[in-house]
Amino acid sequence: MIIKMKKGSSKNQYKKVVDFLESKGLEIKDVSSEQVTIFGIIGDTTQIEPFDLYAFEGVGDVTRVSTPFKKASRSFHPKDTIIELPNGLKIGGDHFTLMAGPCSVESEAQLRTIAKAVSKTGTKILRGGAYKPRTSPYSFQGMGLDGLKLLRKVADEFGMLVVSEMMTPNLLHEFNQYVDIIQIGARNMQNFDLLKMLGKTDKPILLKRGLSSTIEEWLMSAEYIMASGNDQIILCERGIRTFENYTRNTLDISSVLAVKELSHLPVIVDPSHAAGRWEMIENLSLAALAVGSHGLIVEVHHDPEHALSDGAQSLKPKKYENMVKKLQNIAAVTGKDVQ
Ligand code: PEP
Ligand code: MN
Repeated sequence: MIIKMKKGSSKNQYKKVVDFLESKGLEIKDVSSEQVTIFGIIGDTTQIEPFDLYAFEGVGDVTRVSTPFKKASRSFHPKDTIIELPNGLKIGGDHFTLMAGPCSVESEAQLRTIAKAVSKTGTKILRGGAYKPRTSPYSFQGMGLDGLKLLRKVADEFGMLVVSEMMTPNLLHEFNQYVDIIQIGARNMQNFDLLKMLGKTDKPILLKRGLSSTIEEWLMSAEYIMASGNDQIILCERGIRTFENYTRNTLDISSVLAVKELSHLPVIVDPSHAAGRWEMIENLSLAALAVGSHGLIVEVHHDPEHALSDGAQSLKPKKYENMVKKLQNIAAVTGKDVQ
């Protein structure tokens, strides 16, 4: 971190800020000239919030030069993290992992029909929401615990794993029991009590990017989970809110590259919530593979016209199957393994 004092600031103002930083165990490297008073701070600056330093009179500019996250940072952990799942499946590195299923679990028959279809393509992770974060309190809220139990039952029938969204820390016990990957949704990316609680599970966490979150905020949320003791995190780019409303959100495909540069954690793409339109899912998925993401989470429904949530962005099974074939053909050329 670099601090430039305001023109005309006093020696006393300089001393106050330097004393404060030194009291935190940080070292000061002064590089002032006759024209400008400027110094660098050396040491663990993660404990300092740059903006707070403007509380000191005389402080002009504060510039961060290192990332505020540590455990999630590639500079502290250069090698890619590869997450190993209970059935031997891996997420990260050269693996391209598919997760697919309905937005919401609606019934046993619905879930089985979709699980059967996606498992036929080689997809080994079944997605499905049992607790749904809906914008309207009058929309379908999910089947709750019955939905989680159905996910477990149906996934087991097809030798699949389960990923499902948890919205409250109170349900950690149930999620530990029925789910293999705990999804933290976009709306809860900064629910810090929820994030801290995830240190109490050894299940991998699928951490979606918040609706309007910067890449740094997203990685800081990963840092929360890691600081609480769980380093099994899969990041998920699911589109962000912009001025554009032709699509539901704007898929920030470049965030995949940024995250791979900044962090060692695997990052997958959710084209469904990004686009909000089924016609776009295949091409966005191919783009996700091309840009180097580690997989996809895709909504699939056999009867999207009557789905209880997100039918417009759900692929019919045949379309999903065709898409997986294309992904496999392209991945074969790039040396990635679609699983
Ligand atoms: C979902 O996966 O169904 C979901 C609600 O996603 P997001 O949190 O990205 O909106
Ligand atoms: Mn959905």
